[in-house]
Amino acid sequence: MPLNLLDLDAAGLIDFFASLGEKPFRARQVLRWLHRFGEHDFARMSDVAKSLRDKLAVLASVVPPALVSDRLSDDGTRKFLFDVGNSNAVETVYIPEGDRGTLCISTQAGCALNCAFCSTGKQGFNRNLTVAEIIGQLWQANKALGFDPKGERIISNVVLMGMGEPLANIDNVVTALRLMLDDNAYGLSRRRVTLSTSGIVPAMDRLREACPVALAVSLHAPNDQLRDRLVPINRKYPLVELMAACRRYLTAAPRDFVTFEYVMLDGVNDHDGDARELLRLTRDVPCKFNLIPFNPFPNSGFKCSKPERVRRFAEILIGAGVVTTTRKTRGDDIDAACGQLAGQVQDRTRRTLRAIPVVAAAG
Ligand code: SAH
Ligand code: SF4
Repeated sequence: MPLNLLDLDAAGLIDFFASLGEKPFRARQVLRWLHRFGEHDFARMSDVAKSLRDKLAVLASVVPPALVSDRLSDDGTRKFLFDVGNSNAVETVYIPEGDRGTLCISTQAGCALNCAFCSTGKQGFNRNLTVAEIIGQLWQANKALGFDPKGERIISNVVLMGMGEPLANIDNVVTALRLMLDDNAYGLSRRRVTLSTSGIVPAMDRLREACPVALAVSLHAPNDQLRDRLVPINRKYPLVELMAACRRYLTAAPRDFVTFEYVMLDGVNDHDGDARELLRLTRDVPCKFNLIPFNPFPNSGFKCSKPERVRRFAEILIGAGVVTTTRKTRGDDIDAACGQLAGQVQDRTRRTLRAIPVVAAAG
């Protein structure tokens, strides 16, 4: 079986090249071809010695996940669906925002953590994505989106907020992150890459040591009693441990705050008292809040808080001096909004695979 080079970061590629008797600079040359230029054909890597290209053609391959659909929303959000085998699909969402272009990447097919309000969670866990499948989403999306008129890549930021819990797949995620940050690959700064976690405390410490990118934590409740119900991993890592892990993370983080995500659920976690309790909970953690209007899906059992309630909740946080933003729901006409990324994946995948192998984005 040829080795898929998209599974390797610079260190892995250097090791592989050493096993072929090749120098590290050759590995870096190939890394640039693979990721900076998106080249998959060894024959076209023109400055690589012919003898090495011939060796690679036999021993190695470049296999990104297969793109099965590509849809454009009315608001410019674009959703890519990738086939990852065994009738599993994962989604990647591109969100344009002023001079920023953010790609939201998936890290697992499904998710085992089963948060009460998340349709990915409801789908259950299938498997961890490989490095090639994680970085391959960026590889494919860069190919589809290309460069702006100034020659800059359209994708300027990456968020690991798609399907799955990134820290439950930390080994592959860290390798993929290293590629995102590598100047010979995507060259993104650590501030432009954000990982969102539901709070797997030991893995937060490992990330801090291995590759501290910007951190978002899915909080969703101001106390253990409610969080145990909404985010079941809280039963294992309760809030006092989570807050301590956030403080430890900040000693290495590229930004001097943690972003707390808070999904607004009507009548569940959106009372004035919840906002005040949140302020007490987070008072020792430099942070910002990102309120996410709940995106409904069939049989979720939750409703989104009324806009007036979201405004009031934000006001209380802002009034206490905490920067608080409310996420605009984007791409919901193509089911690309947060937490909608799995609802109909299985079904739609089958349909898509049967009917339309690749749907080109409408212009
Ligand atoms: N597993 C990670 C990252 C993926 S989820 C995590 O939980 O942080 C990305 C964000 O979307 C999380 O904050 C998650 O709680 C939120 N989310 C999940 N389902 C949602 C829904 N139905 N509506 C709005 N946000 C949702
Ligand atoms: Fe998994 Fe995140 Fe969904 Fe929770 S919110 S089930 S951790 S993807």
